[in-house]
Amino acid sequence: MRVITPLLLCLVLAAASPAAQGGSDDTLDIYTVDVEGGEATLFVTPSGESMLVDTGWPGFDGRDADRIAAAAADAGVSQIDYLIVTHFHGDHMGGAVQLAQRLPIRNFIDHGTTVDEGENRLAAFRLYTDLRGGGAHRVVAPGDRLPVGDLDVVIIASDGAVLDAPLDGAGGANPYCEGFTFHGEDITSRYGNAEDDQSVSTFVGFGAFRSVIMGDLNWNKEHPLMCPEDKVGPIDLYLVSHHGSETSGSEALVHAIAPRAAIMNNGPRKGGAVQTFEILQAADNPPDLWQNHYSIPGGEAHNRPEQFIANLEEDTTLADGRAVHMGASHWIHVAARRDGSFTVTNSRNGFSRTYGPRE
Ligand SMILES: [Zn+2]
Ligand SMILES: [Zn+2]
Repeated sequence: MRVITPLLLCLVLAAASPAAQGGSDDTLDIYTVDVEGGEATLFVTPSGESMLVDTGWPGFDGRDADRIAAAAADAGVSQIDYLIVTHFHGDHMGGAVQLAQRLPIRNFIDHGTTVDEGENRLAAFRLYTDLRGGGAHRVVAPGDRLPVGDLDVVIIASDGAVLDAPLDGAGGANPYCEGFTFHGEDITSRYGNAEDDQSVSTFVGFGAFRSVIMGDLNWNKEHPLMCPEDKVGPIDLYLVSHHGSETSGSEALVHAIAPRAAIMNNGPRKGGAVQTFEILQAADNPPDLWQNHYSIPGGEAHNRPEQFIANLEEDTTLADGRAVHMGASHWIHVAARRDGSFTVTNSRNGFSRTYGPRE
């Protein structure tokens, strides 16, 4: 019979403890919180440092802030050490004030000043700047690093500029630049394009594990980042840009980084575009796609089987893309390991899949 030594017993107990208690294991935990077509993605290091990328929408009695706080509680963290606000749109910056009423936010990272105009957007921006004035504030540029535990956090785009030198492990010619078609005004005028183009986009490395989260950086801005040389390199987990809308996610980006899994933070009617599903599917090795929501535009032909989708309800969606749904919501959780392997779990049904180290 095998004798379990006290040391081995400790290891066994550690392995059996909940996956996402800050500091209890050696995983980077990532939560893509469902904020109904906004963005809110929480990263927690093995030693419990936290970095949140965006805060979801304002309003709804603090719905999105509550959902982020629930993910933070699950991860065992009681403050946000670094908040990256990718850009100053309501679905990204909007929940910050309500979140700060639930969890202290220590460092505010962003691209500086909105390029948007209009009374409502400027008023929303002022609410945020009043808040960030109460913490440490840093405007970042491409190539800057954030000291989040032992993660390798590198800014790859900000304020309309992109990296001019490749990340470690990147820099090869990108064959998917051939045939790149720039979007014209007919497409770029559809959304708040100018502010989207300022998005703070971030590479997050943890040992051999590599991921990227880009806010709403647009298709045309992907070109200088990825062409003619690929400055990002291979990615394990792609957090799908711009909610999966057709104004981001070019072949030059998606096919070059060749992710093994992707998570799309779409809402029922926000993002989740047919073109985005099709481009991901057309990769040489299509990534396993997970979705925060069932996509109504995607329909039966394009949505993944329901076990890959965290939230299935079709709900009232307002003209500005906000979904009114107030009930229970589910996140997608990723436990990433230093060897580059990672496990993705749908919190609605417990369905999970593990991806081994990259070959
Ligand atoms: Zn957005
Ligand atoms: Zn935006």
